[in-house]
Amino acid sequence: MLAYLNGSFLPRSAATISVDDRGFIFGDGVYEVWRAVRGRLFETDRHIARLVHGLGELRIAVPGVIESTQLAEIADRLLSQSGLTQGEATFYVEVTRGVAPRTHQFPANAPAPTVYMTVNRFTPADELRARGAAAITIPDIRWMRCDIKSIQLLPNVLGKQAAVERGAVDSLMIRDGMVTEGSHANFMGVIDGVIRTHPTDNLILPGITREVVLEIARGLGIPVVEEPIAEREIERLDEAFLTGTTTDVMPIVRVNDRPIKSGAPGPITGRLVTEFRAYLDAACGAAHATS
Ligand code: PMP
Repeated sequence: MLAYLNGSFLPRSAATISVDDRGFIFGDGVYEVWRAVRGRLFETDRHIARLVHGLGELRIAVPGVIESTQLAEIADRLLSQSGLTQGEATFYVEVTRGVAPRTHQFPANAPAPTVYMTVNRFTPADELRARGAAAITIPDIRWMRCDIKSIQLLPNVLGKQAAVERGAVDSLMIRDGMVTEGSHANFMGVIDGVIRTHPTDNLILPGITREVVLEIARGLGIPVVEEPIAEREIERLDEAFLTGTTTDVMPIVRVNDRPIKSGAPGPITGRLVTEFRAYLDAACGAAHATS
């Protein structure tokens, strides 16, 4: 696979950073992951906007390449030279504060941010999607700025590992009795025909897929309420699902070994699975046809 690092294209195995990079030392940086279908990025501008938000909150100057046209050109080159213009892939972008002697405070003279981009082959979990997946609940031990897509992901790593060890697809994180989100996906439930999901505040990442799925749902006339689901309400949910860039819409049919309703994906979830896939294909296919 090819990578882009600070202005150069090189094989990923040759892409190296300094041990004094503040991303390595402090986790001082942010990242984004795009879906690419047939070599086309999904929702370029919304991902850039979230990255710019995170950089702004960390007071890291936005590098010039984090701009729609340049970023798309780099992604095109990485995808085509890595043989990923057919089928599915992901495009990863990371920006750190850069290289400086280790001090907790920002370096007096701001270093150039480190900018890393790469691509990976991706296979959607469609068999699991058809059956529906299991989830577990865990305490949300993260910080209070989960709206920043920080590269500091240890609680998410531990949460996903705990899920995998119990044969589940993900962990639902619980803060103050409420479900916030999964380790790398947002969580939604359906009660009496209404979709409910945590509002976009400092306690969750504002997922791009979340936003698109809510737009699709509203377009279909399915009511949406942006309020958290309590942990004790999970057993009363008619349907549940996760949304995310590498998750798409994933039905959750068991939580902590107890079935959600019948234990099969529900009708609203099924409709959103189909509609989201169609939207993704149309968005990427249409863009492809014009280039
Ligand atoms: N929440 C968390 C914690 C995540 O890491 C992700 C993945 N980026 C999401 C939600 C879903 O966001 P998106 O739909 O933009 O991938």
